[in-house]
Amino acid sequence: MPETLIDDFGQTVVAWQRRHGRNSLPWQNTRDPYRVWLSEIMLQQTQVTTVLGYYERFLARWPRVTDLAAATLDEVLAQWAGLGYYSRARNLHACARAVAAAHGGAFPQTAAQLQTLPGIGRSTAAAIAAFCFGERVAILDGNVKRVLSRVLAYDGDLASSAAEKRLWDHATALLPLQDVDRYTQGLMDLGATVCTARSPDCLLCPVQPLCRGQQTGDPTRFPVKTKKLKRSRRENWWLWLEREGRVLLQQRSGTGVWAGLWTLPMYDDEAAARAAVPGAALETLPRLQHALTHFDWVLHTLRAPLTGETSPEGTWVAREKLAAYALPAPLKKLMEES
Ligand code: SF4
Repeated sequence: MPETLIDDFGQTVVAWQRRHGRNSLPWQNTRDPYRVWLSEIMLQQTQVTTVLGYYERFLARWPRVTDLAAATLDEVLAQWAGLGYYSRARNLHACARAVAAAHGGAFPQTAAQLQTLPGIGRSTAAAIAAFCFGERVAILDGNVKRVLSRVLAYDGDLASSAAEKRLWDHATALLPLQDVDRYTQGLMDLGATVCTARSPDCLLCPVQPLCRGQQTGDPTRFPVKTKKLKRSRRENWWLWLEREGRVLLQQRSGTGVWAGLWTLPMYDDEAAARAAVPGAALETLPRLQHALTHFDWVLHTLRAPLTGETSPEGTWVAREKLAAYALPAPLKKLMEES
């Protein structure tokens, strides 16, 4: 990579970020690793506008990492409910506990050490280290992969770990000598607001004169990733049972996407759901479609008031207490609307 590209690119991104980047988000203008870490985890696969309310509520309830470590996983999941990708919440809690127990309540100060904590990958570790401790270390989240592979017209197939490693090397080589925090933010901002996945705004882009992808005439062919995610379809039946103003909930066990969350009793087929409450007059509600990264989930709901003593196992929760339970977003919506 030519030296001039490296110098020009870094300086251009830094200057653009200063004037046109995002500079007043609640997790900016702080070097507190707890706040930066919390925002980085919440922002993974989630839009800024969605994160804002959750971020503020988390901080109001748990102002320090040691407060979060002292919470139960149930409380954390309840606060996270609706934000999706719940393994992030489980790791968030595990990470807070690790920082409290193994690091005396202070986050480690290098990307290499940060990366040893639960739920903190290489890019997140680098972002925290760059923002909070000024470490000269590269990030490579989805947005930044897109920007850099376009700027460099990098056609290595990112489905291969060797090609991804080379892009990491390029990202490291492009790091400016100073202002790494602003540069890091600038790359994130470029990816989120200018060099978007489907319609990069090359005319407004500050690095357009340096961008080799744009010079090919079709920058959207970068990044190259041949292995497409194979999506599958899943179907389940919920039983919505109510008795004297209380709803029957079960806590999901195991390691599935909703592990630790509370849902209505759930079955693999309609016959099993009906068999759980023999004789009950079940009303069929409109089915729900829930799209997750790896599969489309079709959720059917059968609803009935319960008068007899027989019911599936679970916890009866008064409707006005439901807010204290971590319900997945589609269930929360269903209950609010029905
Ligand atoms: Fe992306 Fe276009 Fe800017 Fe290149 S010039 S980085 S393709 S927006």
